Amino acid sequence: MRVYIKTYGCQMNESDTETMAGILSHEGFEIVDDVESADVVILNTCVVRQKSQDKYHSALGQLVKLKKQGKIKLIGIAGCGSNLEGERLLQLGADFVIGSRSIVEIANVLKRAVEGEKIVYLEDRTCDIVADLPKLRSTKHHAWITIIHGCNRFCTYCIVPYVRGRERSRPIQDVLKEIEGLTQQGVIEVTFLGQNVDAYGKDLKDGTSLAKLIEETSEFDRIKRIWFLTSYPTDITDELIDVVANNPKAAKSFHIPVQSGSDRILKLMNRRYTSAQFLKLVEKIRSKVQDVAISSDIIVGFPTESEEDYLQSVELVRQARFERLNLAVYSPRPGTVAAKYYPDDVPYSVKVKRLNELLNLQKQINAELNRSYLNRTVELFVEGKTKDGSHYGRDIRNKIVIFTAEKPLQPGECVRVKIDRVTAGPVYGKMI
Ligand code: SF4
Repeated sequence: MRVYIKTYGCQMNESDTETMAGILSHEGFEIVDDVESADVVILNTCVVRQKSQDKYHSALGQLVKLKKQGKIKLIGIAGCGSNLEGERLLQLGADFVIGSRSIVEIANVLKRAVEGEKIVYLEDRTCDIVADLPKLRSTKHHAWITIIHGCNRFCTYCIVPYVRGRERSRPIQDVLKEIEGLTQQGVIEVTFLGQNVDAYGKDLKDGTSLAKLIEETSEFDRIKRIWFLTSYPTDITDELIDVVANNPKAAKSFHIPVQSGSDRILKLMNRRYTSAQFLKLVEKIRSKVQDVAISSDIIVGFPTESEEDYLQSVELVRQARFERLNLAVYSPRPGTVAAKYYPDDVPYSVKVKRLNELLNLQKQINAELNRSYLNRTVELFVEGKTKDGSHYGRDIRNKIVIFTAEKPLQPGECVRVKIDRVTAGPVYGKMI
């Protein structure tokens, strides 16, 4: 039976898709690349925004039509949508629903669905996600590794703690065993994932931390670069900053969502820091980690966000000078505190105007920062080819570099590139 898995949302879902694909293929199912060749389609869903939820609802509607036409046999839903909607997804036409903490059971759930059973399986089986679970990775040289599930932070706009549950770390020995296996398959780069990745180890109460994991991972000769995503500002420890600063294999890159520059809005969001504390953290990281790249996320149009609040976000962006900034327009997520208690009172046109202004400011900052790349030589791992035949990869600061080479290169090859052109986005160069 042929299975296609469509992934929505974050890297944690991508990692879960690789695990599900690995388990299914190990159990004799064939994993295919498109709906047309599939008997079973699984949507690995995201609910972080209303738009994300609308997307998979619409895809589910299309799949139900294909099923009626006899073009596919079964529809499954995985990911955060399963945790949030459960049974309702069966009513919308799904045959099986599997929770994000239950993916270890995917083959059994699918087999039961093949027998004609309608199933909603949401049991927490995170402790069964062990190192030797098979994975079918989309790239050979890089692996996403989820090290902590869930989040305890309860930001008022966010549905994640309700759908992904509380923080639960994987034992460090288990993660290291997984990495050892990956190195034998040719993996040279790993990205540790968690909704709040800096909280890794806290619940284990045995001294495990992200810093310790990075140090131990760097002991593997074959591992050349180590990334981690996503950081919560107050959970970043001095120990972690020092490890990133001093360990040559640790990527010089932090992604730290700030979400707003207004202390009043930060409080309403239940983010437990002020804009001054955030900027101090940025300064501390920059003073310790040479040539570090810091990126962030901001939400515009949070309930009651006044022009003054918004201008404080603008000021924070000016001061922080992020390497990259992801912007989102606030949309209420049913089930969150913000959706329940705060009026969504910033007009959509104002939200979009604020988003565009911040986008333009960030572009300007990017163009200025990228100028420092001109004539620099950077080392990077090849990730793939662009449509025009150039290659691309990212350097240790997570900068996307597009370059020409005189010979064909394979993903994962380490090359040196001299930068000769910069834009507000990628930088361009030639392999030397
Ligand atoms: S830190 Fe806040 S925004 Fe991030 S996953 Fe946790 S609750 Fe959501």
